[in-house]
Amino acid sequence: MAVKELRAPEPSAAALSAEVDRLTEKGLADLGFQDAELEKTARLTWKINVLKKEKKAIIPAHVYQRAEVILGVADMIGDSYKLAKLCAESRAERVVFCGVRFMAETAKVLNPEKEILLPAPEAGCSLSESITAAQVRALRSTHPGAPVVTYINTSADVKAESDVVVTSANAPKILRKLYETHKKIVFIPDEMMGRNLARELGKTLGNELVIWEGSCMVHDNFDAASVEFYRKMYPGVKILAHFECSPGLVSVVDFIGGTGDMMKYVDDNKAPAYMLITECGLGDLARTRFPQKAFVPMCRLCPHMKATDLSRVLRALERPAASSRIDVPEAIRERARRPIERMFELAEDGSAS
Ligand code: SF4
Repeated sequence: MAVKELRAPEPSAAALSAEVDRLTEKGLADLGFQDAELEKTARLTWKINVLKKEKKAIIPAHVYQRAEVILGVADMIGDSYKLAKLCAESRAERVVFCGVRFMAETAKVLNPEKEILLPAPEAGCSLSESITAAQVRALRSTHPGAPVVTYINTSADVKAESDVVVTSANAPKILRKLYETHKKIVFIPDEMMGRNLARELGKTLGNELVIWEGSCMVHDNFDAASVEFYRKMYPGVKILAHFECSPGLVSVVDFIGGTGDMMKYVDDNKAPAYMLITECGLGDLARTRFPQKAFVPMCRLCPHMKATDLSRVLRALERPAASSRIDVPEAIRERARRPIERMFELAEDGSAS
């Protein structure tokens, strides 16, 4: 299913003006986009939206992507789990995945018949790259009988060696379910999340929960000491941290969870202000989704997530580079699919809560 080169037309003056209005309404001006930048952005988003229809493509975007990608061209926005599910349900012929490589690979594993394009082919992930398939096999032989539970932020090769995939949102629920029939679980590759899970589930590290020393370069570096400072500065602020943050930080915040849980918390509560300790893209999205609420900035940029911009999305639609096409060998794909489907079963099984 090769993609033919097809250049997008230029928008008319009226179409461009309407696109600027649409982006303004979506909240880009509120995020600081000035007139000239808005017009430049609108020209790209208009072209991308025209071309994606012609190419029967969909554009999923992770919540950490640039605001102009999320608000301008994305058809679906979410965390890794939500995007993986939505791609599997879509009838589109191709997917232009605005995220990082492991996410595009997951989309390919679940959608072998679709062409999956990654606009920034070099977009990796420090966490995903912290473990290899051979290391998972070695762990399995050291801990025979213990199921290998793998965070979704991993390569298809690593998923293929695993029993169940989890996300930050469903990991506690799935591990609880597995502990009904197992005394020991191997959890890879995020050390911080592993420590947080052990604490939440009351399990001993090394004995009942074996973890790996992988880390996210974004969430690994937040400073627990500054939380106290912000609490004094913004009385009543609710502080939310991602599950990939350190246990020291997690122990002093008001809420811990995945990105979807954090957005829901903001939606459900009436605090004077919120601090979202995670990648900065979530704060941008929250500010546009909840314009009446106040947010205190404390975030870090993920260089991998921010590698995708609109010009690269357009290029992926017009004339994708060979390196943008995601392929997973069939033998790996079939083995990687099973632990992902196991996650869908366990995450949606009411008895696992
Ligand atoms: S934020 Fe962390 S886990 Fe997510 S892609 Fe970046 S490095 Fe990987």
